[in-house]
Amino acid sequence: MTQPVRWIRNFVDGEFAEPDGPGFPAVDPATGAEFARVHEAGRELVHRAVTGARAALHNGWADTPVRERTALLRRAADRIEARFEEFVAAEVADTGKPVTQARELDVARAVANFRTFADVIAAAGQESFVTDLPGGAQALNYAVRKPLGVVAVIVPWNLPLLLLTWKVAPALGCGNAVVVKPSDQTPSTATLLAEVLAEVGLPAGAYNVVHGFGGDSAGQYLTEHPGIDGVTFTGSSATGTQVMRTVAPRVRPVSFELGGKNAAIVFDDADLDETLAGLTRSVFANTGQVCLCTERVYVQRSVFDDVAAGLVEQARGLRLGDPLTERTTTGPLISPEHRRKVLDYLALAEEAGAKTLTGGGIPELGPELDGGSWLEPTLWTGLTNKDRPVREEIFGPVAALIPFDTEDEAISLANDTEYGLASSVWTQDLRRGHRVAQAMHVGMSWVNTWFLRDLRSPFGGMGLSGIGREGGASSLHFYTEPTNVCVRL
Ligand code: NDP
Repeated sequence: MTQPVRWIRNFVDGEFAEPDGPGFPAVDPATGAEFARVHEAGRELVHRAVTGARAALHNGWADTPVRERTALLRRAADRIEARFEEFVAAEVADTGKPVTQARELDVARAVANFRTFADVIAAAGQESFVTDLPGGAQALNYAVRKPLGVVAVIVPWNLPLLLLTWKVAPALGCGNAVVVKPSDQTPSTATLLAEVLAEVGLPAGAYNVVHGFGGDSAGQYLTEHPGIDGVTFTGSSATGTQVMRTVAPRVRPVSFELGGKNAAIVFDDADLDETLAGLTRSVFANTGQVCLCTERVYVQRSVFDDVAAGLVEQARGLRLGDPLTERTTTGPLISPEHRRKVLDYLALAEEAGAKTLTGGGIPELGPELDGGSWLEPTLWTGLTNKDRPVREEIFGPVAALIPFDTEDEAISLANDTEYGLASSVWTQDLRRGHRVAQAMHVGMSWVNTWFLRDLRSPFGGMGLSGIGREGGASSLHFYTEPTNVCVRL
């Protein structure tokens, strides 16, 4: 007996739309098996989503008191917690990431995103200035912040729910309506979030989901739509450029969190065990598919061999396998196409004379996982900053280890990139830690840790890594427009 098709549907103007075409497959990257069909939104459905979002603003959502909006964010957090394992299962099915990571990072952060932005928005004040005028008169200036309007939210496949809620929570909290376009590869959790937001009483039209691809599909239709007041986008630098071109004629604000080619700098006084544990996370977390992941490791020459040997041992200790097994630490890459891209960089590294210390191939994990996009955690030596695998973002479980002699040399090697997202510095000399961390040309600079986030602090990148910052007050600035009122007293 054939199973009925399970559809992942679009959510438009408060309702799930009935599929009206063949759709496209939702595929489990761990096995390569299709587990559902996704309804691809056409131009007309995207239009309905944008006009529904506009109507929600006019029907009162934009003027809802802050107290009610923040209470709704808290209810959403509670409801995600109540349906926690459903979100975990959906995220694992879409991405193949280990179930422990989905619990501890992805879904836990979705809850934290809603709670943190409820707190931040509830505590936000207004700027005001008293201006002294000639003759002793005064004027009062104050800025009122209004919702930006209808916000297009476009997110990638690597941390789908985490990145989605990082944008949706502050956008809704500030009184905007959103139209979300998740990656075609990870459609499930954005759809589940539609259910949750309806359950907690979000008015129809304030949250919409349109599924599909980028060019000539939902992504393009959304960014081309004249009813969009701003775009918040996380994805590759190349797509960011494209989106910017699309919205440029209408001069819409953009917030871009783009790619990275992040460096770690390890000094000879670093605590070896802590550094190895931190580096292992920063290189291999989410199979290297985090924009913040380290792909360049600069190590002071006197400890180079020890760090290289230690990191190789850690990489070999990672456990690839069934994502639903608790002991699995490392999942597959997102798709065969992405694995092809990473394998091409492995070939390039070999041509450039790299020595592969560990990995470099496709692991044997048994017949059930044969169809998945698996790749061995890989470490290289012998490359320099001139080589393409050290210059270009690979977005896989790979890193190049490169020696340095002096602090100045380490800083200039780390900053020798067009990207500027994140870095980490490993040293027990805290004066040096502060100095080097501040010298990094990046948005986030860590000392003796990595991906440790306080969600009230700014997040974003420089250069090819993005435009603007989100997090805490930075999010409130992006998702609102100020009107300055000047009153002669
Ligand atoms: P892409 O840029 O390919 O896609 C990102 C999103 O944009 C997807 O939803 C995609 O749809 C959509 N999209 C693609 N083309 C267009 C278009 N022309 N118009 C509108 N939307 C479009 O990135 P990936 O999904 O491959 O994600 C990996 C990239 O994301 C890496 O470069 C990584 O560094 C970056 N990233 C950055 C982060 C940061 O915070 N700085 C965090 C996480 C990832 P579809 O997938 O359906 O094609």
